Amino acid sequence: MNSSILGKFRNLKVWQRGDERAPHKPLLLLLALGRYAAGSNRLIKYSEIDKPLKELLELFGPPRKSFHSEYPFWRLQNDGIWELENAEGLEARVGQTDAKKSELIRHAVSGGLTTDLFTAIQNDKTLLKQIAAELLDCSFPESLHQDILESVGLLDAIELSQRRKRDPKFREMVLQAYEYRCAICGLDLRMGGRELGLEAAHIKWHQARGPDVIENGLSLCSLHHKLFDRGAIGLSDKHFLLVSESVHGTEGLSNWLLTHLGNPIRKPQRTEYAPSVEFIAWHRKEVFRSSPRIVMS
Ligand SMILES: [Zn+2]
Repeated sequence: MNSSILGKFRNLKVWQRGDERAPHKPLLLLLALGRYAAGSNRLIKYSEIDKPLKELLELFGPPRKSFHSEYPFWRLQNDGIWELENAEGLEARVGQTDAKKSELIRHAVSGGLTTDLFTAIQNDKTLLKQIAAELLDCSFPESLHQDILESVGLLDAIELSQRRKRDPKFREMVLQAYEYRCAICGLDLRMGGRELGLEAAHIKWHQARGPDVIENGLSLCSLHHKLFDRGAIGLSDKHFLLVSESVHGTEGLSNWLLTHLGNPIRKPQRTEYAPSVEFIAWHRKEVFRSSPRIVMS
């Protein structure tokens, strides 16, 4: 029973043209699940979803000029898991079948999971967490799961989202290529015989069909891995570190980021292991929060 329900959430279209990120539907669903976990009714008004969904898209979606919470709210109807109320006779956007955002607000349109799904979730609290984990696994790397769940109030679904063990060979390959050091800060802490706080990051996400090859990997400490996956940092084609203008702070900013700004990352043991331009360009377009800071001389 649960596996057929989970399948419906697994098959959502979250990639466009192969590998462009479109995590609008999963983020809307995660937001709704968070509301349900807090006791919300099945149908939630668009006007209540608009602002928090836009914030989620800004934080965890691809870097874009504008963020449209109305698209997933309307289009999820076609996936057989989402229903709208008061949605008859709305004026559509020019050349589209989607309703205009202003119409969704004017008609007080509400949306939510279908009655069947909502009832299933009410009857089985673990199902809600399983769905949340499924949505995360399909669209986001693990390093972001906790932040997203925290933002939608579902932090206790975290164990489920991290249940899948990735290929350990990729990790070993990448760490060895960089001699078990962070490619940005050089961290190489060890405890006993094992490295500590060091991770193998995918440059083009596994979820976007980024392959498990060394040229798509970077050996990074936990913090630089998180900053890379959130788009706070990126790489130029020539492997210089980019730091987003949107990152600010006092403690840590200069030590962890600005010190390395404009420097090339550490070179791997062989030239052919170096990050490939194709994967770096994907990361800059789909993850990195433009614009990069200018290097002051
Ligand atoms: Zn580091």
